[in-house]
Amino acid sequence: HYLYKAFPSGLISDACCDYETVDRINADIYPKLHELIKTDFFKYYKLNLFKECPFWIENGQCMNRACSVETMDKTDIPDIYKSDVLGALKTSPAGPLFQPFEKCEFTDRDFCVVEDENDGVFVNLQDNPERFTGYAGPSAGRVWKSIYEENCFNIVHQLDPSRKNKISHTSSISKNQLSNIMSSIDQNDDENDSDDVCFEKRVYYRLISGLHSSISIHICDEYLNQTTGEWRPNLDCFISRIGSHPERIQNVYFNYVVLLRAISKLSPYLRGYEFCAGGGRDEDTKVKNMVTELTNAAVSCHGTFDEKLMFASDESRLLKEEFKNHFRNVSRIMDCVGCDKCRLWGKLQISGVGTALKVLFSYDDQYLNPSSNPNLLTRTEIVALFNTFNRFSESIIAIKRFRKLYHERVKAQ
Ligand code: FAD
Repeated sequence: HYLYKAFPSGLISDACCDYETVDRINADIYPKLHELIKTDFFKYYKLNLFKECPFWIENGQCMNRACSVETMDKTDIPDIYKSDVLGALKTSPAGPLFQPFEKCEFTDRDFCVVEDENDGVFVNLQDNPERFTGYAGPSAGRVWKSIYEENCFNIVHQLDPSRKNKISHTSSISKNQLSNIMSSIDQNDDENDSDDVCFEKRVYYRLISGLHSSISIHICDEYLNQTTGEWRPNLDCFISRIGSHPERIQNVYFNYVVLLRAISKLSPYLRGYEFCAGGGRDEDTKVKNMVTELTNAAVSCHGTFDEKLMFASDESRLLKEEFKNHFRNVSRIMDCVGCDKCRLWGKLQISGVGTALKVLFSYDDQYLNPSSNPNLLTRTEIVALFNTFNRFSESIIAIKRFRKLYHERVKAQ
């Protein structure tokens, strides 16, 4: 019954609200978000999906798609369920010429490498859902390992004692934990270790781990039985990857409140933003109304995450620069993911979280004014932010679904 503990309740550590409040907020937000991301403005994402991996050139073969699927292919799996097919992208027949929008975007580089919209192709996100692809093995392991290695900060930043009382330590990362992740050994207890890691570094780790958890939840929620061809939630997958590590679920909720807070802060900016939705003035107005309804719901949730607690001291200025650099590196590492569909969602979601961080830490409220500063965010960043929020929103719904499945299984035993 250890899994009961995995479904958290009470205050979310490092945030200012509890799990129950987030569940309630999400029940309201999820349907709105789900509709919004189906609109043309939000479903077409432009990116350069085939940039060269800037790391580990000495072992280039592992960037090859075939390398990543080797371990999964079995002769008894029908071709359509094979990993390279599942991980392949559906693209428009018009290819790179497909251009659903007039140009209405700008570039501003900050917490992640912002996709250059002059380069790359539009992908219809609705046609390419993030779910089980079979991508696994050394290539996937290497990408995750490199991403966690970005967690090693050079700047020694002591915990400000005055903050100690405000911030609980239950989800901090320890040196033990990091080395365990490096060697890919699953040990339940280590991720709960407490340590005097400063708030900022802990936030960094929780964002990455929460993103990893969320991706794993989608894999388990839309899991393909490669023998029967059935797509359905896989409770055992959820238990082993997520449920048996309670802090991974906590980190999903933590990401959710950070994104929610960013969207709430961005609300006035979005109210004045020109949505070039591609379907004429009516479509633009419809999208704008949907965004306003959603951001109003976000604004009505007070006390989710307090970004002012981060990078507050003079000494933390350098830490902020380092934090940004690490995050940018993670977005570069995403170019090394050896499965097209996984790379698409990896790049999009790191850009979504990066955009949230940019909104929270790079601009104060007055600056976020679309009339005086219309070029703060590109269309790509806005699309990434909302689609990433949607992914976390779906993860929270999926956690509830798995909780129900788990209770049913326990009852049946
Ligand atoms: P992995 O998920 O590869 O994890 C490696 C190690 O990291 C684990 O052994 C554990 O020690 C540690 N770890 C795991 N989760 C966490 C966490 N939340 N917090 C802290 N530490 C953790 N596969 C798909 O089927 N569909 C996809 O869409 C997809 N997208 C991907 C996107 C990216 C960016 C990457 C790198 C991989 C993606 N994959 C996808 C592959 C998938 O994430 C796994 O790597 C794969 O399923 C193998 O899983 P695993 O159980 O070996 O552990």
